[in-house]
Amino acid sequence: MHLKIAVLPGDYIGPEVMAAALPVLEAVLKKSGHTLEHSTHDVGGAGIDNHGKALPDSTLEACRAADAILFGSVGGPKWEKLPPAEQPERASLLPLRKHFTLYANVRPGLLLKNLIDTSPIRPDRIPNGVDMVCIRELTGGLYFGPKSTTDLAGGDIEAIDTMVYRKSEIERITDVAIATARARRKHITLVDKANVLQTSVLWRKVVAERIKATAPDINLTVMYIDNAAMQLVLKPAQFDVLLTENMFGDILSDEMAVICGSLGMLSSASLGAGKNSLGLPFGLYEPAGGTAPDIAGKGIANPCAQVLSAALMLRFSFGLDAVATRIEAAVKKAVTSGTRTGDIAFGKPSVGTKAMADAIIANL
Ligand code: NAD
Repeated sequence: MHLKIAVLPGDYIGPEVMAAALPVLEAVLKKSGHTLEHSTHDVGGAGIDNHGKALPDSTLEACRAADAILFGSVGGPKWEKLPPAEQPERASLLPLRKHFTLYANVRPGLLLKNLIDTSPIRPDRIPNGVDMVCIRELTGGLYFGPKSTTDLAGGDIEAIDTMVYRKSEIERITDVAIATARARRKHITLVDKANVLQTSVLWRKVVAERIKATAPDINLTVMYIDNAAMQLVLKPAQFDVLLTENMFGDILSDEMAVICGSLGMLSSASLGAGKNSLGLPFGLYEPAGGTAPDIAGKGIANPCAQVLSAALMLRFSFGLDAVATRIEAAVKKAVTSGTRTGDIAFGKPSVGTKAMADAIIANL
């Protein structure tokens, strides 16, 4: 297969981990008899600095021409003084999600058994590590509903964000959760706030009906968001696939990430309604973490999240499940054999970004 991807490294550690991840991707594809065509484009702060906006037209055009986007991360102190609407994340990631209707954020939360000491959770609570997936709706809800800020009589100010969901939006994200659960332990936990929110009442009804009609083999549990935030810390092993709306998912997926140890290990996929030239889901693949300005430029960032994001890309946008699994196994082997960047070394000797990637390549 010939794979055509757009590479958007972004800012701070973005280009560092991308430079380490691409050789891993090239190596595994070469070993598996596939070819890679990729072009690199500015996005985020790099887009602002070099083209005057966070999502330059040329970058968007390159994404349109590709079968998938491999994304680094964007933003940082350099651009924090810009008006909010022009800042890197808001002005590049959100429009990309909207443009390609990337409605499903799939974020694996995997804590390997031998990395349990990287989790803030007591080891006796997670003897077998953590293995769950958060499916977050990404293009609806509060972040995209009607908004306003109004100066009121008497000098007060009123701001309104609106949470809007349609049945069809809930159905399509439920289908992603069903497909994900089928390949795992067949258990979906729907997280909502159905005791106070109308949208949550609709979510409960639609998800239950969809599962009953199309996936009776899937076991559904419902949980209020406040309880879910507690249960995630108390007993993370109870979760298999966690399904939720945009804002709840934003918060819970970060909580899940921290339970799983370093952000440097966690990947994510944002899948769209559109298909690529191969008839497979077009998607944007990125590490769960941000640009880590505190460690940028030192060559010590963990490239595993970027490498594992590339694995998700192979699985979802190119149908190369076995090749994706080969990357995931190589990351596990490299880490298990003791090669670790500082964020997962815990006082033991650590290696830099490139050496970590070299160890993954050696284990492919
Ligand atoms: P962050 O995720 O960048 O960093 C949080 C902590 O995790 C830091 O201590 C950092 O060193 C560490 N970390 C993150 N990735 C790591 C890696 N690969 N290896 C080792 N350690 C790693 O979060 P932040 O500091 O809140 O945000 C920094 C910037 O990133 C902000 O401008 C924020 O807006 C942006 N951001 C971008 C995205 C994105 O592009 N999708 C996501 C989150 C944050």
